Amino acid sequence: MILHKHFDVNARGHLTIGGLDTVELAKQYGTPAYILDEEVIREQCRVYRKAATQCFGEDALPLYASKALCFSTMYRIAAEEGMGIDCVSGGELFTAKRAGFPAERIYFHGNNKTDRDIRDALDMGVGTFVVDNQDELTALSEEAARRGITQRILLRITPGIDPHTHRAVVTGNVDSKFGNAIVTGQAMKIVKEALSAPGIDLAGIHCHVGSQIFDIEPFSDAADIMVRFIADIKKECQYEIRELNLGGGLGVRYTEYDREIDYADAIRQIASVVTEYCRAHDIRQPRVILEPGRSLVAAAGLTLYTVGSVKEIPGFKNYISVDGGMPDNPRYALYQSSYTALIANRANAPRDFRATLAGRCCESGDLLGEDMEIQHAKRGDILAVLVTGAYNYSMASNYNRIPRPPVILVRNGEARVAVRRETYEDLVANDIL
Ligand SMILES: *Cc1c(COP(=O)(O)O)cnc(C)c1O
Repeated sequence: MILHKHFDVNARGHLTIGGLDTVELAKQYGTPAYILDEEVIREQCRVYRKAATQCFGEDALPLYASKALCFSTMYRIAAEEGMGIDCVSGGELFTAKRAGFPAERIYFHGNNKTDRDIRDALDMGVGTFVVDNQDELTALSEEAARRGITQRILLRITPGIDPHTHRAVVTGNVDSKFGNAIVTGQAMKIVKEALSAPGIDLAGIHCHVGSQIFDIEPFSDAADIMVRFIADIKKECQYEIRELNLGGGLGVRYTEYDREIDYADAIRQIASVVTEYCRAHDIRQPRVILEPGRSLVAAAGLTLYTVGSVKEIPGFKNYISVDGGMPDNPRYALYQSSYTALIANRANAPRDFRATLAGRCCESGDLLGEDMEIQHAKRGDILAVLVTGAYNYSMASNYNRIPRPPVILVRNGEARVAVRRETYEDLVANDIL
């Protein structure tokens, strides 16, 4: 086992995922390629579903934050596993609908929903809007009233806490572009607006404090603040909030330095503080929703590349260049995210070489990691970067006109293509000469 139980090494010394030889997968599907262990995704859905049902009752509905990894079959998997989903754009809604995802189980997020997004979402019967701001509330209320319907919403609230994580993924702070801060009075103001807005049913409130969080504290702090706010709403507006959405953000093990999280236990701990705070503030416990993205899909995936060159600069550093890079994984370039990399065709060899892992773009920031511990490499080796299931394919671009890799799903000892590799023809499909 390497990092997670579905990554292993076979008798040929090759890295395997879900029991399949990654070197064979590279031969069959080419590189770069995203490979996902579908069973791991399904198991994680079940962990969240089971723990949520035990802690919050039969009407618990964990949501999959689908921006983490979005393609048609992924929505089908989430539907089959009984999850709800978050969508953040018209494109995600369209993909979910096309995959047959039940619209009533969709929560529609985003800090700037366009008029078209609002109309499209209402047309398809999206169950819940997570309304970010006053402008959106007004636009949604007008459109819902015009159609003679009542739209269920949550309001996005900014609890104003620092989840002790990387700044670029901190979203619960008061100066965030998301939501309405409690301390400034804006949160209570928009609650009152929502209560009197035509065509709007205020079901609950939502917060999301950040990402890649390993401690329970940020969640219990958020729960404390949000439950107090629910009590304040009850006092000031004589209105009972029925749903509390505490967002996503539980961390994932990317390297040996990251802890392993017991997700079921984390959910139980969050549940017990919510119950305690509701009792302390004398309010009826709302339905509690969690919306994990990363922790459902990240560990399931790896990316396979072919090594093109190894460059040792005496007295400086070593570069291993691969046939992908920031177009398929921009996370190191964006926020220096750490990964584990290894040579898949010599997975048992000691990782006694230090190298910067470079992509193939004309951009010196196009790196997948610096100063990484890896095996000695040579042109033609297959290199695997582990734990790339989240925010890789969904963040991929065509920078330098590089086609996006395919997404291959592995299950029951078999592999299938879920998203085919882009072609050069795909790249020019929208060009008008
Ligand atoms: C991104 C996001 C999530 C998921 O976050 P993860 O860290 O991937 O679990 C959940 N809710 C909202 C509102 C988000 O923006």
